[in-house]
Amino acid sequence: MHKCKWIVITGGVLSGLGKGIVSASIGRLLSSKYNVVPVKCDGYLNIDPGTMNPIEHGEVFVLEDGGEVDMDFGHYERFLNKNCKFGWNLTSGKIFKHVIDKERKGEFLGKTVQMIPHVTDEIKTRLKNISSDEKADIMLVEIGGTVGDIENMLFIEACRQLRGEVGRGNIMYIHLTLVPILGVVGEEKTKPTQQSVSMLQQRGIQPDAIIGRSSRPLPDHVKNKIALFASIYPEEVISDPDIKSVYELPLIFEKERLLDVISKKLELYLTSDLKKWGSLVKNIKDPKDEIKVLICGKYTKLHDSYVSVEEALVHAGAHNNCKVNVEYLETTDIETGKLKVKDALKGVDGIIVPGGFGSRGVEGKIEVIKYARKNNLPFLGLCYGLQLAVAEYARNVCGLKDAISTEIKKTKHPVVDILPDQKGITEKGGTMRLGGYDALLNKKSNVAKLYDSDKVSERHRHRYEVNPEYHDILQTNGLVLSGMSPDSRLVEFIELEKHSFFVATQAHPELKSRLERPAPLFMGFVKACKK
Ligand code: GLN
Repeated sequence: MHKCKWIVITGGVLSGLGKGIVSASIGRLLSSKYNVVPVKCDGYLNIDPGTMNPIEHGEVFVLEDGGEVDMDFGHYERFLNKNCKFGWNLTSGKIFKHVIDKERKGEFLGKTVQMIPHVTDEIKTRLKNISSDEKADIMLVEIGGTVGDIENMLFIEACRQLRGEVGRGNIMYIHLTLVPILGVVGEEKTKPTQQSVSMLQQRGIQPDAIIGRSSRPLPDHVKNKIALFASIYPEEVISDPDIKSVYELPLIFEKERLLDVISKKLELYLTSDLKKWGSLVKNIKDPKDEIKVLICGKYTKLHDSYVSVEEALVHAGAHNNCKVNVEYLETTDIETGKLKVKDALKGVDGIIVPGGFGSRGVEGKIEVIKYARKNNLPFLGLCYGLQLAVAEYARNVCGLKDAISTEIKKTKHPVVDILPDQKGITEKGGTMRLGGYDALLNKKSNVAKLYDSDKVSERHRHRYEVNPEYHDILQTNGLVLSGMSPDSRLVEFIELEKHSFFVATQAHPELKSRLERPAPLFMGFVKACKK
């Protein structure tokens, strides 16, 4: 078995405490010196979140290898500055399917197939395989949900068993809980933490450190009390207070001396290196300029649906010393006439039309794109945003009246049509054009200048493309196809000359944006908005 150190992160009391950010921040602290591999265990029965509605589950994050995963992987990548893999997301769906398939093939040799040991063994095997395939120094295993959920019980049990295999000094358990403050000048309440720790202990896990999510840093007497009840030392209770920017959290954990706690438990000598990180965080917290950007979409009820877009703006903002105030426009309101485009875009420095599916809100998006094009307002289109910008241009500049995507309806001018290899696919999960693909850029284009390269790779998630039969007419009417797939069939980037910034891409460049390495198109967009 590959030798490495293990950190298991569980949560208690409530979901939504920011366990993903906590894990990513711990990973960031450790990754200065070690190869940290983040793994996320999700209790749900979906094989992956690709088939879940973004309003219900937040954004679907797409990895380089085409895996569709939970948005926590977005946090891991943005904090750890590394590409994650689909196999690092274990879901109950994946595990059960594998075990049941194996049973049907007779591979259990007549045995009764049980949750323990067969399912838990499968979980442990996967974890150990990842650690050896990646030559991990530290495996960071985050278990989704909260202790006590039936869903994640098997993952918790597998991680408990793991201690017996890897041995003391090689594994530690960190538990994140909520420490609520009641009343206006109220005090911190530790009871929920005590109960949640006791539930974890009932499952055979003694936490080595507790991270207390609260609106302010935990005072010493609260740390002492939690320590007493949880059988740990007060310095092993770490504050996780409300902060302005999630990127501050590694700095807070550094100050709380979390590395010392981990060093002791895992018998490592850990140091962190957050100098550059710290200066970027300073720009985020204390920016010189400010701009207002409108994200025009239809999943605006849950902002988590567009986390990566928002984060990419934060990154580009940090590098431009500029705060990006993001607001949302529900484009359905434009369609129904509830809002006028002109009023909706008042005081806005730039607009983004992000990815999306289906017909709701589409005509509203086309309206705002038209306004941006005609009024020299910076526009960035992402995936659906490119497709709808093409439809708008075809209608209003090329004179192709009913131009639209066949995703919406049959039309005389299907300027956006289904990808040839998507025809005939009926299964929904994992079947889109997914993951990183190369594009060749027109050397003279603005896009090439922004990337400072004529060959780029970005991640994708779509079934439709700009119809090749319309490339010529779009170009003769002035739309610049600034990047194509290497076989020159698929339009990957478009732009307009003589515009402050009018760029769209079939890809999702927001997925590769990191605090320490912002996405070039977002950099260009933010710069244009600042002007
Ligand atoms: N619905 C469009 C397609 O499938 C765009 C997808 C997206 O924006 N991610 O091609």
